[in-house]
Amino acid sequence: MARIFSGIQPSGELHIGNYLGAVKNWVRLQDTHPGAIYCVVDYHAITGTYDTAVLRARRWGMAKSLLAAGVDPSKAALFMQSDVPAHTELSWLFTTLTPLGDLERQTQFKDKSSKMESIPAGLLMYPVLQAADILLYRADSVPVGEDQVQHLELARDTARKWNAKFDQPYFPEPKPLLTPTRRIMGLDGQAKMSKSLGNTIALHETDEEIWAKIRPAVTDPQRVRKSDPGRPEVCNIFQLHKAFSSDETQTHVAQQCSTAGWGCMDCKKVLLEGMVLELTPIRRRSEELDAEPARVLDALADGAATARAIAGETMREVRGYMGLDV
Ligand code: SF4
Repeated sequence: MARIFSGIQPSGELHIGNYLGAVKNWVRLQDTHPGAIYCVVDYHAITGTYDTAVLRARRWGMAKSLLAAGVDPSKAALFMQSDVPAHTELSWLFTTLTPLGDLERQTQFKDKSSKMESIPAGLLMYPVLQAADILLYRADSVPVGEDQVQHLELARDTARKWNAKFDQPYFPEPKPLLTPTRRIMGLDGQAKMSKSLGNTIALHETDEEIWAKIRPAVTDPQRVRKSDPGRPEVCNIFQLHKAFSSDETQTHVAQQCSTAGWGCMDCKKVLLEGMVLELTPIRRRSEELDAEPARVLDALADGAATARAIAGETMREVRGYMGLDV
């Protein structure tokens, strides 16, 4: 059985963008891939400037939100990256075989560093830590969105280089496991849905709060009047229907839209029903975890213990192959 690893930045409580883009798939995969490893990558979150109190709150919010969204500690290990020191240890070993030029060429490094006066070395090493995150568990599959496939390339390259240098087929080359849901645009029509842009819906929002955000959300810009036929394929609301509504409802929506059979408000009310159905249990679980924070701490402690056991075994073998065992 393939082992999967996936990490998520501690950006606080989940919103529908990262839920549909990643976490809903994590929840599905924990049933088909027992022993999945899910990690809140807090070491990745400190490569830029940050506020410690905000980071602390966001780590907690993300862990709680993942559990509320359905990550089940009896099926998958959920933990904080910084609770498993082997991530940074393996990362150091990998830096010794990663060409500097490969890191300097990474698009993300070029983008971020171009806006900085003083560039932290950690920003450059970010992809090496990412490779270590995955290879530490010898994961062969990584659930990712299409836009992240290139980030896996360095991990695959690192596995190849290490295996060749130490003449051991030890690390699998991790393959992307593409997340089925398409990227959802922001409610304001911007290409990206993100909390900092204020164009998303948090998983724990009430029905009224969700409606207050969907009601003014951008639809097909060419559908100005109710009598204008719409184009569901270009409308973000239809993308949300694809995520939250049944197949039957999606067919009905597409038909009503393209024939001007209803207005966008009618369409959004139907979307709200689907969202409420899926998000209400998540909001309830989130409230329960707020009332019993020990359940979050226990899940993280158990997940970290599982991760440390696997990571410890990998490090023992890796040190041996690298001549670091006497
Ligand atoms: Fe979008 Fe629905 Fe309006 Fe069509 S009817 S443009 S799918 S919101």
